[in-house]
Amino acid sequence: MSIEQKVKDTIKKYKLFKKKDKIAVAASGGKDSATALYILKKLGYNVTALTVDALIGNYTKENLENLRAFCKQYDIPLIEINFKDEFGAKLCYLRSLLQSKGFKYNSCTICGVLRRHLVNKYAKKYKFDKLVTGHNLDDEAQATLMNIFRNDHLRFKRMGPLVGTVNSKRFVQRVKPLYFIYEKEIIKFTKKMKWPMVYAPCPCGTIAYRTDAKKFLLEFPDKVKKNIVEFAIKNNPKIRTEATIKACTICGEPSNNDVCKACELLKAVAGGI
Ligand code: SF4
Ligand SMILES: [Zn+2]
Repeated sequence: MSIEQKVKDTIKKYKLFKKKDKIAVAASGGKDSATALYILKKLGYNVTALTVDALIGNYTKENLENLRAFCKQYDIPLIEINFKDEFGAKLCYLRSLLQSKGFKYNSCTICGVLRRHLVNKYAKKYKFDKLVTGHNLDDEAQATLMNIFRNDHLRFKRMGPLVGTVNSKRFVQRVKPLYFIYEKEIIKFTKKMKWPMVYAPCPCGTIAYRTDAKKFLLEFPDKVKKNIVEFAIKNNPKIRTEATIKACTICGEPSNNDVCKACELLKAVAGGI
């Protein structure tokens, strides 16, 4: 089955979009978000690329150039946000500063928390109905195992193509139309399309559990990844509601605690924790 057909089936089965939805695709210029943008645009959806540049040297520079060219080629609007404008510094500087103050955060934790924070903030600001992320089946199988390794049942319960929280004005609903597409299918597709693409991993990637989960899964046939994500989805009937989501007392973004993770990090950067 083509990956386009798989995306269509996932959208239909999980009711990911309405035809009139204004959709933001969190895009990096990499293979997954480019594939999501291309297929959704081809299927007639109203898509915009939303990129948050953590400013990781040549790696994100090249990705951003590729993304700009891609959006121009397919006539897709592009919204660009970057760490320097938002936080006054690149990711590496924020990490070094935090480490010099004795905090043990690694690059991926800082990058992930701050990028998620900005993507949600700007998706709300521009009034998007849905926020697409390019997670593929390999990412999701790895994430499922990571949640099991960490005994993180809360995250485990939120897994699925339609991410955990709905009915909240504080979150733009996140959806994952590539949920059932293997990474190798995406690589094959993007190579066939001959899009300029950085296939090398991010030089700052530090999530040890993810690397372990990836290595572990290499021991099994592909079908096992699909079984893992389907198992996770079957255990995911509960969806949090507005009442259980707090607003951060500093920035107003959604948070499990009084102060959200992004503000906690930024307070640490400023020396306030
Ligand atoms: S691998 Fe880590 S540091 Fe690199 S872009 Fe992804 S989350 Fe950010
Ligand atoms: Zn906050």
